[in-house]
Amino acid sequence: MAEKILLVEDEEKLARMVELELQYEGYQVDKAFDGRTGLDRALSGEYDLVLLDIMLPALSGMEVLRRLRKESQLPVIMLTARDTVVDKVSGLDMGADDYITKPFAIEELLARIRAALRKRPAQAAEEPRSLLAAGALTMDTERHEVEVRGQSVELTRREFDLLRYLLENKEKVISRESLLDHVWGFDFVGETNAVDVYIRFLRSKIDERFDIKLIHTVRGVGYVIREDGNG
Ligand code: CA
Repeated sequence: MAEKILLVEDEEKLARMVELELQYEGYQVDKAFDGRTGLDRALSGEYDLVLLDIMLPALSGMEVLRRLRKESQLPVIMLTARDTVVDKVSGLDMGADDYITKPFAIEELLARIRAALRKRPAQAAEEPRSLLAAGALTMDTERHEVEVRGQSVELTRREFDLLRYLLENKEKVISRESLLDHVWGFDFVGETNAVDVYIRFLRSKIDERFDIKLIHTVRGVGYVIREDGNG
């Protein structure tokens, strides 16, 4: 089966050119033109490798990489227009497998893709299960499953993403603005009370249903998941 590459690049002409070259080499290619879509796709588990531009709308390539590395060792090659030491070092520090500076020769990109894919099996074996937990609640971010005391909780995609962000930041109070940024995206336009509405959904599905208290309101600040309460 053809290896599947996710190309996250907002310069559509460049993306199209790279896509055609990769397809010609026999790879399957999907494109994402902003960081948020790129991260969602990268987390889907469908891909063998990600080509990730650094300067992207919605979420920067560095931020995509940082979040991706919390749960996946999927090979990532950073594409950077800025040939600076800082970018290379921080990209590699954050777990990029390699980087390539634009403009690049397609042969060089292909060589790096082959090298990154060769390294993959060993890494895949080490990949940890991505479990988040608070008190009686566990979340398997790979399987997209949430359980409380072993009972499954059905969540919509948005509820899941909101809960996940709160769990990743357990015991830290997160402002509504920050939740909007991280869960809905910087480009979110709409009612700012969306966060409160979704918190209510989560509470009815988790806290109220199981008679626990995980999601706390910090008045005038935001929300926090704490695992101390159980009644
Ligand atoms: Ca760009």
